Amino acid sequence: MSLEVSRNTATELLKAAEDALHERFQYVEVIARRNQQKVLDAFHAERVSAIDLSGTTGYGLDDEGRDKLERVFARVFETEAAIVRSQIISGTHALRLAMFGVVRPGHHIVFATGTPYDTLEAVVGIRPAIGSLAEWGVSHSIVPLNADGYFDTQAITAALQSNTKLVMFQKSRGYQDRLAFSAEDIRFCVNHVRQTHPGVCFAVDNSYGEFVEAVEPTAVGADLAIGSLIKNAGGGIAPTGGYIAGRKRYIEQIGAQVTAPGVGLEAGPTHDFLRPLYQGLFLAPHTVSQAIKGSLLAAHVLPALGYRVSPSWFEPRRDLVLAIDFGSRDALLRFCQCVQASAPVDAHVVPQAAPMPGYASDVVMAAGTFIQGGSLEMSADGPMRPPFTGYFQGGLTYEHVYLTIERFINASIKDRGVSP
Ligand SMILES: *Cc1c(COP(=O)(O)O)cnc(C)c1O
Repeated sequence: MSLEVSRNTATELLKAAEDALHERFQYVEVIARRNQQKVLDAFHAERVSAIDLSGTTGYGLDDEGRDKLERVFARVFETEAAIVRSQIISGTHALRLAMFGVVRPGHHIVFATGTPYDTLEAVVGIRPAIGSLAEWGVSHSIVPLNADGYFDTQAITAALQSNTKLVMFQKSRGYQDRLAFSAEDIRFCVNHVRQTHPGVCFAVDNSYGEFVEAVEPTAVGADLAIGSLIKNAGGGIAPTGGYIAGRKRYIEQIGAQVTAPGVGLEAGPTHDFLRPLYQGLFLAPHTVSQAIKGSLLAAHVLPALGYRVSPSWFEPRRDLVLAIDFGSRDALLRFCQCVQASAPVDAHVVPQAAPMPGYASDVVMAAGTFIQGGSLEMSADGPMRPPFTGYFQGGLTYEHVYLTIERFINASIKDRGVSP
């Protein structure tokens, strides 16, 4: 097949996809505008000023820029308070702080959406680890999702014990074979369970979920939302950090974990981080919309090449993750290599499958990001075992994702010698 024919095929496929996605894209833009308005309103209500963008050193006492940023986040997430700190190194760290802050020895945690995200297994003690919640005398129950991949409100209620203090939801699909949950899904479940258990804290692992919908889970009933700033809420600009937004009494308890009991949120230097954290939040609604449009494009094109995707292009979006069943080692590897070859950084590196600590099979990962591990930037990864599912997420600009998909179509035509 001549290069020209394959180029036309790629162009035609992409054109057909963009035509079909026209209304979906418009909807994504509406969500982005609403979220942009929400963020701007928060900036204005707090009178964010030039002086707030410069940071403090040492203990970081009397850091008005930091306190204001936390109030801005609280407004955006429609909560009483928030913690937004560069000292929180990841989503896992933020989740760990929240869990250790809310519970005490003898308490019990219910995981309402099946097995929690891989990195939390060590935090909770599902996988033995030094310092886990299990070591501190905190027990847990995991309520599996039902056959449709939906949570089971009846079973969740039944799993609550007299010592249950915390119920955890995961909004994003993560590496599970299910759709992400909407804020509305979570509202329904929280309202139901709270009727019989009013003293319990309902928290949401919000990673990859922020600004995908027009409301956050905390606006409709959840007590806490938790996430990483090198994903959605950092807008691709925040170089590090995490946030926890929620009810004042929980934020106070968690604040003691962030620094020290007695010190809480009064201390915490911001160095040069305030500007990128403010700017990242400002950009987040738009950047997330770009990643979602890219994901919709991939979800439309990849099935034409023979790969099953979830969610499909016509299903509602509630997180950034697109799962793609490549069906073969070669196709998964080829996709990841195209993602890497399209990256702005480290494009010359060719990703290969390799063993990873904690994983049963070899894993292939592609990411050439400005921020190490920053996954609002485009990335792909997957374990090398049938059905060879790859997880594709992020993209700071729609154009970047478009060019990556185009590269993959061309590489597939070339390698397989077949037209789609
Ligand atoms: C990324 C992620 C985490 C963990 O965040 P890290 O920043 O990688 O530690 C937790 N839960 C979900 C659903 C995630 O997507």
